Amino acid sequence: MAEFDVDLFVIGGGSGGVRAARIAANYGAKVVVAEEYRMGGTCVIRGCVPKKLFVIGSHVHQEIEDAAGFGWSIGQVSFDWATLVANKDKEIARLEGAYTTNVEKSGARIVKSRAVLEDAHTLRLATGEKVTAKYILIATGGAPNHGPHVPGIEHVISSNEAFHLKELPKRIVIQGGGYIALEFAGIFASYGSDVTVVYRGDNILRGFDEDVRKHVRAEMEKRGITIITGCTVTKVDKHGRDFTAHLSGGSSIAADQVMFAIGRHPNVANLGLETAGVAINPANGGIQVDGWSKTSVDNIYAVGDVTHRANLTPVAIREGHAFADTVFGKRPVQVDHATIPTAVFSQPEVGTVGLTEEEARAQFSHVDIYKTDFRPIKATMSGRDTRVLMKLVVDGSSDRVLGCHIVGDCAAEITQVVAIAVKMKATKADFDATIALHPTASEELVTMRTPTARHVRQAAE
Ligand code: FAD
Ligand code: NDP
Repeated sequence: MAEFDVDLFVIGGGSGGVRAARIAANYGAKVVVAEEYRMGGTCVIRGCVPKKLFVIGSHVHQEIEDAAGFGWSIGQVSFDWATLVANKDKEIARLEGAYTTNVEKSGARIVKSRAVLEDAHTLRLATGEKVTAKYILIATGGAPNHGPHVPGIEHVISSNEAFHLKELPKRIVIQGGGYIALEFAGIFASYGSDVTVVYRGDNILRGFDEDVRKHVRAEMEKRGITIITGCTVTKVDKHGRDFTAHLSGGSSIAADQVMFAIGRHPNVANLGLETAGVAINPANGGIQVDGWSKTSVDNIYAVGDVTHRANLTPVAIREGHAFADTVFGKRPVQVDHATIPTAVFSQPEVGTVGLTEEEARAQFSHVDIYKTDFRPIKATMSGRDTRVLMKLVVDGSSDRVLGCHIVGDCAAEITQVVAIAVKMKATKADFDATIALHPTASEELVTMRTPTARHVRQAAE
C-alpha cells in the first residue's frame, strides 16, 4: 500500500497552484488541488483579467472623444454598466471552466473545498475528510487589506466588490496610490464617474521612477481625476445610499462609493501552519521560503502571493512551474526574480522594467539618463492634451541599459518586448543599432542620442 494518498496536494487553484498541479501531473505525479472559491484564483476571477476587460471597455470613451478630430461625428452614445458586468461575468465563468478542464485533462483531481494542514503530511477538507500527501504546495494567494480600523470601514469596498457593483458610482473616493487604486481610478473615471484618489504620501506610485510618478499624476489630473496627497480617510459615514469620507486634514468628500486599495496580505491565517511547523517570514508576513520555494518544512513548498515576494501572476506561474520541475521533473530550477517587467493599467498606462534612476544612481557610479516627453501623433489631430514619457537608465561605464520606463498608450505591450533586451543585458549601443520603426512612439527608445542627464559619482578622496 502506498505510504500516502497522493504525491502532491496543492492548496489553492490560482495561478501558481494550477501551473504546479498540471506540470507535476504531467510528470506522472498523483495530484489533488483544493480550491475553496473558484478555479483560476485572483487573476482570473477578480484580478488581472476582469480588470483588463474593464480597462479595455473604458478606453472606448476616449476613442469616441478623440474621433471628432479625425472627421467622425458620433451621435448620442450611452453606456450600460450592467451589460459590462454581465458580459465580464460570462467571460470569467468561461475561463473558470477552461481552468478546471485543463487541470482535469492533466490528470490532477480538483476538490472544491477549503483545505488546512493537520500536520506536515495531512490535510483536512471542509467535510472533515483527511488526505495524506508526500508533498504539499501552499498557493493560497492573498486578500485585500482593510488597514488600521477606521469607523465606518464596513461601508468601504475593495477591488473584490468593485467587480460586482450594481451601478456605476457617480462619485467614488479611492484610498491608495498603488496599482489597484490607480487602475480603478482610470476605469471609473473613463466610464464617467467623478473620481477622487486619496493618498497618504507625497506622490502616487511610490517605488516607481520619480519621472513616472510625476508624469502619471499630471496626466491623470488632466483627465479630471482629483488626487489628494498627504492624507488618509479617517472615517466613513453612511446616509441613506450616500457616503461621506472624512479625511485626516479635516475636510470631507461626498461619494456613492468609498474604496480602499491599500495593499494585500498573504492568506496565511487559519491554515494550520503552526501545527505543521511552517514558518512565516517576519519581514513581510508571507510564508518563508528559500530559493526553491521550500518552506521551513522539508516536504512543504509555497509559491505565489502567499510568499509575498513579487505579487504578480507570471511570477506565481513561474514559481509553481519551477517547483514542479524541481520536485517531480528531476530538473532543479530556481526562479530568477531580477528584472521583472510590470505595468500599471492606469490611464495613461505605465510600463517599467529594471532599475529606476534613483536605484541605478545608488548602485552605479556613472549613470546616464535618456529621457523624452512628447505629444503622441494621435493627439495632434484629436486635440487631446496629453504627453508620452519614455526614459532609459543606462550604466555609463558598461553602456548597459539598466531600466526602461514608459507612460503612454501601449506602455505595457512595449515594455514586455523591451524587457527581453534588458534581461539580455543589451547596451545602449545595441538599442541604437536597431533601426527605428516609423511612425511609432516606441521608436524614441532607439533614437535618443544624447543623454538628458549624466550622474558621475566622484571617488572618495
Ligand atoms: P491566487 O490567484 O490568489 O490563488 C489562490 C487561490 O487559493 C484562491 O483561488 C483562493 O480561493 C484559494 N484558497 C485560499 N486559501 C485556501 C484554502 N485554505 N483551501 C483551498 N483554497 C484556498 N498581476 C499581474 O501580473 N497583472 C495584473 O494585471 C494584475 N492585476 C491585478 C488586479 C487586481 C484587482 C488584483 C487583486 C491582483 C492583480 N494582479 C495582477 C495580481 C495577481 O492576481 C496575483 O499575483 C496572482 O493571482 C497570484 O496567484 P496565486 O496563485 O499566488 O494566488
Ligand atoms: P500596492 O502596494 O500597489 O499599493 C498600496 C497603496 O496603498 C500604496 O499607495 C500605499 O502607500 C497605500 N497604503 C498602504 N497601507 C495604507 C494605509 N494603512 N493607509 C493608507 N494607505 C495605505 O497595493 P495594491 O492594493 O494596489 O495592489 C496589491 C498588489 O497586487 C500590487 O502590489 C501588485 O503586486 C498586485 N497588482 C498588480 C497589478 C498589475 O500587475 N497591473 C494590478 C493590481 C495589483 P505607500 O506607497 O505609502 O506604502
